[in-house]
Amino acid sequence: MPQPKDVKDYIRTIVDFPHEGILFRDVTTLFADPRGFRLAIDQLLNPYAGLRFDKVVGLEARGFILGGAVAHQLSAGFVPIRKKGKLPGAVISEEYTLEYGEAVVEVHDDAIAPGERILLVDDLLATGGTAEAGIRLVERLGGEIIGCAFIVDLPELGGRARLEAMGMEVHALCA
Ligand code: 5GP
Repeated sequence: MPQPKDVKDYIRTIVDFPHEGILFRDVTTLFADPRGFRLAIDQLLNPYAGLRFDKVVGLEARGFILGGAVAHQLSAGFVPIRKKGKLPGAVISEEYTLEYGEAVVEVHDDAIAPGERILLVDDLLATGGTAEAGIRLVERLGGEIIGCAFIVDLPELGGRARLEAMGMEVHALCA
């Protein structure tokens, strides 16, 4: 009998995207598969069984797809963290460093109330720069981050160590 597939088996690697030399982990094949997507959401939720969350925060853009499904399962609200200039209301911003240059992410300044319990979700943790900026936004609004959950962790790029140094609990399904 064939073995059931792991989450990792649904993810494909695209060579030289978006630049030469980059091996891009393409999670669209995971999202497109009914069993794969359910497995990923179930496994993202595993460590948080029995915990209460007020909001799930998703990082643009694949964090929205995961975060919406996770928020539904937790009966929590969903808050998007978006790239600069996309959110219509009043925002707070955080700048962070990319491989080439800088980026800015934003959240509505009334999206999280002080003391709310937050789960931060994204598809992939690489250097941790994006997640760190998201964590700073949540913390500036007074949110308490209970966990940070990712489908893929690339530990050799230092993201997990970076978030753990900030006191975060990191959960990832595969490397
Ligand atoms: P970091 O800020 O940790 O260096 O990069 C993580 C962010 O970039 C995440 O928001 C993630 O969606 C995106 N990212 C970087 N590399 C990849 C990749 O190989 N595959 C996917 N799906 N996303 C990536």
